[in-house]
Amino acid sequence: MPPLASFWRYTGVVPYLREIITDGHPTLRKVAKKVGNDELRDPLFQQLIDDMFETMYAAPGIGLAAPQVNISKRLFVVDLDDEKGEQGPLVFVNPRFVETEGEIESIEGCLSVPGMIGDLTRHARVVCSALDRNGKRFSVEATGLFGRCLQHEMDHLDGVLYTDKAKNVRVAKTEEEHAALAEVEGEAGGIARVAEALRADGEPVRADAEPILADAEVDQAAPEPALTA
Ligand code: ZN
Repeated sequence: MPPLASFWRYTGVVPYLREIITDGHPTLRKVAKKVGNDELRDPLFQQLIDDMFETMYAAPGIGLAAPQVNISKRLFVVDLDDEKGEQGPLVFVNPRFVETEGEIESIEGCLSVPGMIGDLTRHARVVCSALDRNGKRFSVEATGLFGRCLQHEMDHLDGVLYTDKAKNVRVAKTEEEHAALAEVEGEAGGIARVAEALRADGEPVRADAEPILADAEVDQAAPEPALTA
């Protein structure tokens, strides 16, 4: 019979919110440690995964890496909302990119760098191999918003913040920028709306325009096919 505190965790998974740490906290700068097989089976680790989803949804965000909740482990979760034709909830344990290709401009923010956005270059397409929460290996191809999100989260596992790579890191000032941060607070997510606003100003349409449009309820019935491979 486990002690009462553990008993709770074994019997009822009640996810709770974890504190999101911000730039300046040393954990964000560590190279996170690989998750062991035993650790993955530990109910406390499973609880961490549930807590991370809960924390990400509450933020709200579309991606969250374990170092952002002060756990220096190679784990992140994403959910771009399958109801909008985007990638649904996914858990990545010990992830790595097995393929990277091309370049794409990205405007990003981060839950751990509140209120700021910046411009950077990401791979246009990645293939990520990882373990799911049951330890089963899977790989997923990602382009557009999903691909940018995976790269952003992967950087967190290596102690890298987007601000290290971005040029023109700035406080979100325009109405569109604030709206973007208020809605998803970055992780490449609501930032898409900033890109949308820029396009409306005559910027060329980018290759990852589709998820932005879907998200902006222009056509929710048209998923971005490249996200689902
Ligand atoms: Zn981030």
